[in-house]
Amino acid sequence: MNDVQDNIDKLKVENVHLSAYYDMYLALKELQDTYKEKIQFSSFNDDEIRQQILAGKPLILNSGIDLSGMTTFLMDIFKVYAQFTSLKTDEALTAIEKLTPDLPEILEEFLYLKGDTLIKAHVSDSLPDEILIFLIKNTLTPLLEKYSTCVISSIDFDSWERGCCPVCGHPPGLAELRKSPSGRQRYLFCSLCHTSWPFQRLKCPFCEKLEEKETEYLSFPDEENYRVDVCNSCNSFIKTVINNNAELPPVLLDWSSQYVDDTAIQKGYKRVASM
Ligand SMILES: [Zn+2]
Ligand SMILES: [Zn+2]
Repeated sequence: MNDVQDNIDKLKVENVHLSAYYDMYLALKELQDTYKEKIQFSSFNDDEIRQQILAGKPLILNSGIDLSGMTTFLMDIFKVYAQFTSLKTDEALTAIEKLTPDLPEILEEFLYLKGDTLIKAHVSDSLPDEILIFLIKNTLTPLLEKYSTCVISSIDFDSWERGCCPVCGHPPGLAELRKSPSGRQRYLFCSLCHTSWPFQRLKCPFCEKLEEKETEYLSFPDEENYRVDVCNSCNSFIKTVINNNAELPPVLLDWSSQYVDDTAIQKGYKRVASM
């Protein structure tokens, strides 16, 4: 936690305008870590995991994970969010209370990528799309992170060639080029459970089109830590960390580099998922 606090202090100096968001990150992390400690999963079958990865199916599809009883936790996440933002709390709270009977189904819809019918039904002026998604993600993330730590040692990453996360099936929200003895290896970070996995450099993680040479990217004259990899087939982009010297968590990397996304969006590329 101290390392994180040190990193946050440095980030606040570099990005004064994001100070409240960094404080929110710490408060959310504390809440999520406490919640995570209470979660338990029964044992996993290594063979089943191997088979499922070989078949290209994210492990969550076979997990029987329990999404009931998460209302209190969503409320706790909401309180933290409201504390650090300018959200009109009373109106948003009413909207949240209205959606709680549907919460297990909403979480299921989001987790299993079943579209957004229920989520859309609960979006309103007092509870906009991006805030509702933020709350849903932050409610699910500790459960999924814990699930990932339980199954990750059984995953053969060499058998996983897909652009979605092998654990939960969600798209990556960030990429990283890490130094390795044979050059730089590309890794993707899952936008939901934060698992990272190696991925081909010549392939788009979203439409999985394979290029003959390095995919096109946007670089920035004053920015040596990030670049943006773009795909001209599906018109999407993924932000890529080139130097993560402070070894910051992917969420903080993402929040601290929003200007990079803005440039790609202005050029007409779409962002598929954020961290
Ligand atoms: Zn995932
Ligand atoms: Zn693509």
